Amino acid sequence: MVFDWLTGRGTERAAAAPASEAGDTEQLLDAVIASLPDAAIVLDRESRVVAFNAAARTIAPALARGAPASLALRVPEVVEAVREAAAGNEPRTAEFAQRVPVDRWFMAHIRPLAGVAPATMLLVFHDLTPLHRVEEMRADFVANASHELRTPLAALSGFIDTLLGSAREDAQARARFLAIMKTQATRMARLIDDLLSLSRVELIEHMHPETPVDLVPIVRQVVDGLQMLATDRNVEIAIALPEEPTPVPGDRDELTRVFENLIENALKYGASGKRVDITFSAGTAAGDEAETLVTIRDYGPGIAEEHIPRLTERFYRVDVTQSRAEGGTGLGLSLVKHILNRHRGRLTIESEAGKGATFTVRLPVLHSKFPAAA
Ligand code: ADP
Repeated sequence: MVFDWLTGRGTERAAAAPASEAGDTEQLLDAVIASLPDAAIVLDRESRVVAFNAAARTIAPALARGAPASLALRVPEVVEAVREAAAGNEPRTAEFAQRVPVDRWFMAHIRPLAGVAPATMLLVFHDLTPLHRVEEMRADFVANASHELRTPLAALSGFIDTLLGSAREDAQARARFLAIMKTQATRMARLIDDLLSLSRVELIEHMHPETPVDLVPIVRQVVDGLQMLATDRNVEIAIALPEEPTPVPGDRDELTRVFENLIENALKYGASGKRVDITFSAGTAAGDEAETLVTIRDYGPGIAEEHIPRLTERFYRVDVTQSRAEGGTGLGLSLVKHILNRHRGRLTIESEAGKGATFTVRLPVLHSKFPAAA
C-alpha cells in the first residue's frame, strides 16, 4: 500500500490484500496514528472506530475500537461532518469547543481514505486552544488600553467644554482647569509611551542582548534621577553599591527602565516606610548558573499574597485609584518582566501585607572577561 496521509489518497497494491499484509497495514495504521502530534481517529465504512491515539482519548474518553463514532465522540458538529464527508467522499472540517474539564477548542479535519480498508475516514483534531487564549488576551488588552485612554480623554473633553462655556471669562478657573488638563494629557502620553515600549520589547524578546553593561552606574543614575521624588515623599534611599563593576549582558536603556520602575514604585507605594534599601548580591539560578541580584526593599504597606502572582500582568493594580493618583499606568511591572525575560533574567517579589515589599532583579552574570563596561 502506498498511502498519502495529506491527501487521504492511497493506491491499492492488490485488490484484496492477503491476511499477513492486512495485519501489516493495521500495524502501520496504529504506528502512524500513535506518532501523530494531534489527536487522531480512524473510522471504517460503518463509522466505527478502527484506530485512535492517546491524544484522542483526552477529547473522547469513551473511545473504543469497534464503537460507533457518534457514541464515542458525542460532538454533533463532528458527527455531522463525518456523515457529510462519507456521503460526498470529500474532506470536511468542523470547529467545536469542549467545556469540561477545562475550556478547549478544536478544529476537526475529516478526510476520506481511499483504498486502505477497513479504514475509510481519518479524523485529526487540531488544538486551537493556544490560539484562542492569545485572541482572548489580545481582545482584553485592546479593551483595557482603550478604557485607560478613554478616562483621561473624557476628562480633557469635559474641561474643554467648560472652558468654552461657563468658565470662558473666569481667569482663575481657566488656570486651574488647564493645570488638570496638562496632568491628564501627561497621563495619556505616559500610557502610550508604556504601550509602545511594551510592544517593542515583546517583538524582540527572543533576541537576547550580548553587550556587557555595568549595572552599578545604571542603578546609581536611576537613584540620582529619583532623588527629588524621594525627598518629596520624605523617603531615604539607602544604597549599597559594590566597589567592583557588575557586568551583565544587557541593554542599558532597557535595564534603566527596569530600575526606574522598581525604585519609583518603592518610593510611591512604600513611602510610608520612609526608607528604601537597594543592595547587590550574588546568587545561583536553577541549573547552577551564577546570577547577579539587585534587591529593592521598601518598608511600606506591602502587598497581600493573592496579588503577588498577578502583579506583572498588564494593567493589574492592587488599588487602581491609588495607582492613577500616582500617575501609574499599570504597565510598569509587565514591562519589567518582559525586559528581564529578554535578558534571560527574572523578577521575584516577596511581601507580607503590612511589612513592606522586596523586588529582586536576577540577571545572569557575564561569562566572558569584562572588556569594557558600557
Ligand atoms: P503602576 O503604573 O500602577 O505603578 P506597576 O505595574 O508598576 O503599575 O505596578 C502594579 C501595581 O503593583 C501597582 O499599582 C501597585 O498596586 C503594586 N505595587 C508595585 N510596587 C509596589 C510596592 N513597592 N509596594 C506596594 N505595592 C506595589
